[in-house]
Amino acid sequence: MSPRVALTVDVEDDWNTGSLRGIDEALPTLLDDLDARGIRATLFWVGEAALRRPDRVREAHARGHVIASHGMTHVALSRCTAAQQRDELTRARDALQSIVGAAVTGFRAPYFDLPRGLGPVLASCGYRWSSSKAPFSPVAYYRHLFAPRAAHALDGADVREIPVPGMLGLPIPEGLSYRRLFAPLAALGPRPPRVFYLHPYELLDGADGFALPAHLRPFLGVGEGTAARRRLARLLDRWRDASATFDTLSEHTS
Ligand SMILES: [Zn+2]
Repeated sequence: MSPRVALTVDVEDDWNTGSLRGIDEALPTLLDDLDARGIRATLFWVGEAALRRPDRVREAHARGHVIASHGMTHVALSRCTAAQQRDELTRARDALQSIVGAAVTGFRAPYFDLPRGLGPVLASCGYRWSSSKAPFSPVAYYRHLFAPRAAHALDGADVREIPVPGMLGLPIPEGLSYRRLFAPLAALGPRPPRVFYLHPYELLDGADGFALPAHLRPFLGVGEGTAARRRLARLLDRWRDASATFDTLSEHTS
């Protein structure tokens, strides 16, 4: 069977600065690039960003991409009370559903910070699937390092988790940011990942106004903009050459 890749995009403000240049300038170009390749993606929208750019959400939905939730404010859920977690989950879902006029049942935890036991909470807030576990998180660290890599039920709830795998089997999440940071290493891995993620703002040129700590800027800013866009195009072509097919995430994804 040919390998399958789900391209996922976390649609949020630029590096938590409140700026939406990524959504305004990079997302439309990204969707054009995906259309040209016949790829439908899964877009995890932060509710607040979606409310500021409802037309962008509707356009992506109309172009056939799956609209899912990335929380209301992009806060790390393990730092929230139970009431705040529920508030993040329901407000984001309500906002997105009212914008697209269709059910929104998918979720990705900001920073891959999925607290233990959140499955039943997700289910009670109307979610049916999630892609929130990655081998490393800047907030949750290695909490999900030994989680199953295949899709599985979350905490016994009726919520299907489709994890983001590690690059080359290492505890490095399969995302464009880490592929940029570990570029020589990433070149060794020709096998398509089951799930891959990126952010629109990574594709922006000249984004040096970001409120990143100065010591992180050289690392997180490496290969951004046009270079990142080219890297993504090469990856998509390489996976296609490896006979991969592209699919979207849903409660039925295996
Ligand atoms: Zn995010």
